Amino acid sequence: MAVFPPTLDRLVQILSRLPGIGRKSATRIALKLMSSSKADCAELARAIVEAREKTLKCSQCGALTEVDPCRICTDPRRDRSVVCVVERPSDVIAFERTSRFRGRYHVLGGLLSPLDGIGPEDLRITSLAKRACTPEVQEIILALNPTAEGEATSLYIAKLLSDSSVRVSKLASGIPVGGDLDLADDLTLGTALEERREL
Ligand SMILES: [Zn+2]
Repeated sequence: MAVFPPTLDRLVQILSRLPGIGRKSATRIALKLMSSSKADCAELARAIVEAREKTLKCSQCGALTEVDPCRICTDPRRDRSVVCVVERPSDVIAFERTSRFRGRYHVLGGLLSPLDGIGPEDLRITSLAKRACTPEVQEIILALNPTAEGEATSLYIAKLLSDSSVRVSKLASGIPVGGDLDLADDLTLGTALEERREL
């Protein structure tokens, strides 16, 4: 016999698909919602739908935004000569939090992973190469996670850009190997950025 009514059971199932939320946490959240007011539940549902509907990827850098191009790409105070290459939109947020980067970004949307069938054409690499060829861009900073896939992707991009006049650099060590840029503290990330080395 089912423990929960079918609608509640469905809610638990959907919540447990979210990252970091197992069946136990999903059950706790669902039960908490059942004891909240209907107005609060409706507000949460509306916030999810509205955020999803209004948020899009910037056509220039790939970061999450509500206006295209995003505010970072169009900010006249940002240094247009430096582009920081990251894996995911959340990495942009991690760097912005450090307040130590004044250039612009390029989100790849993943890392090369032949075993998972992810090749260069699946990532925003062609658009990066195009950006790197514009005269205003003088330096590309590769800020990918120091995992096997991150290193392979950095090498691929460095090779691809080796014939261009753009300078290619990489984050200094300091980010734990296999670690997540997203979870690195602001100071570590800021220092890794400032002490980057040329490839
Ligand atoms: Zn942008």
